[in-house]
Amino acid sequence: MKILFRLLALALLPLLAACAGTPPRTDGGDRPVPLLLISIDGYRHDYLDRGFSPVLASLARDGVRATSMQPSFPSLTFPNHYTLVTGLRPDHHGIVHNTMEDPQLGHFDLKDRKAVSDGRWWDEATPLWVSADRHGVKTATMFWPGTEADIHGMHPDHWRPYDGKVTADQRVDQVLAWLDLPPAQRPGFLTLYFDAVDHAGHDAGPDSPQVNQALRDTDEALGRLVAGLKQRGLFDRINFIVVSDHGMATVPPGHVVLLDDLLPLDRVDLVTAGVLAGINPKPGTDFAAIEARMEQPHPHMQCWDKSRVPARLHYGHNPRVPQLLCLADVGWTLSTRGYIGEHGAMRGKRTRGEHGYDNADPRMGALFVAHGPAFERGVVHPAFPNVDVYPLMAHLLHIVPERNDGDYRQVEDMLVPAAR
Ligand code: AMP
Ligand code: ZN
Ligand code: ZN
Repeated sequence: MKILFRLLALALLPLLAACAGTPPRTDGGDRPVPLLLISIDGYRHDYLDRGFSPVLASLARDGVRATSMQPSFPSLTFPNHYTLVTGLRPDHHGIVHNTMEDPQLGHFDLKDRKAVSDGRWWDEATPLWVSADRHGVKTATMFWPGTEADIHGMHPDHWRPYDGKVTADQRVDQVLAWLDLPPAQRPGFLTLYFDAVDHAGHDAGPDSPQVNQALRDTDEALGRLVAGLKQRGLFDRINFIVVSDHGMATVPPGHVVLLDDLLPLDRVDLVTAGVLAGINPKPGTDFAAIEARMEQPHPHMQCWDKSRVPARLHYGHNPRVPQLLCLADVGWTLSTRGYIGEHGAMRGKRTRGEHGYDNADPRMGALFVAHGPAFERGVVHPAFPNVDVYPLMAHLLHIVPERNDGDYRQVEDMLVPAAR
């Protein structure tokens, strides 16, 4: 009897759910509701309360917002974008910095097209678009680090090579055009990427009118997206997750540590400087002595041999992480006289704001807003680490997640019961 009752309840569940206004899990056919992952690079979590993002604020009001989302260390663009789509911390997915060296592959820099589109840098992990494709879900990416590379033999079904000159409106229109494709080609997982807020944050600092203007401009583009979706009757039939990769901290003028004064630069290989410097020995260098000196307390930075990085940063095991790491205190940067001489004008302009710092610092806190039929309405979720976004997305797409560092159970309560 009990079993019969259960079966009856199960059979009636969809009907009851429909009566209660429970949103659809599929697009009407047997495909899951499309999922659109939007990144606003450098959007610090508290920017949302400035009043310059009305569209985003209304998505948050009618959906879920996290008080903050903790980026993974280092709080840089490429490492965190890849974390969001793999659920792995940078040490585990291999994109350990925007600039890095690999014993076999040589040098990687986010501005180096050839490296960025070489799958060998990326294939320590399997990004969501590859898994989606394997599960028969079509994918389309309007920019996202990694999408230009052939990873495990696969690109997204639709993608564009990164070009910062493509306007925010053009990016939105491309996403809408992909959603207009005939059902067989229509993507079930899409990404959309905006960079104006990050640029303004670097150029003028997080508290500048320039950042506020970039917030307005980006929000207008989101408004165009929402209007386009409403026009198509899609707005309530798509799940959005709007995130950022990291926040932004003010760097006052002159807050530069000159590594020349601390290190014999001719005897080491400085892989990166900026917020997180990476240093490897040149052959024949007594590196232990250099490390011992660098690891002494310093007023504006802290250095560790990669084996001694604090465990909470989850960093240092990957062979691509340089032997010695120096992390600037928040609001400081690390540079050299040669670099400032060469790039002085440009660098001077780009150091009013920085990120890459300790991911526990609240100024590095990122944005998380989600909206759509799968999400609760009007929920403010406590802060959580960005590795949890991946298992959440895999769940929404009905995809078996790859091994990852995230935990779906920590974010499950963002979903309406029928979508859990
Ligand atoms: P950073 O502030 O150094 O972490 O770098 C962020 C910058 O990387 C952004 O402002 C973009 O201009 C750039 N960027 C974002 N995505 C890509 C990409 N797929 N390929 C190359 N550059 C990118
Ligand atoms: Zn970024
Ligand atoms: Zn940046």
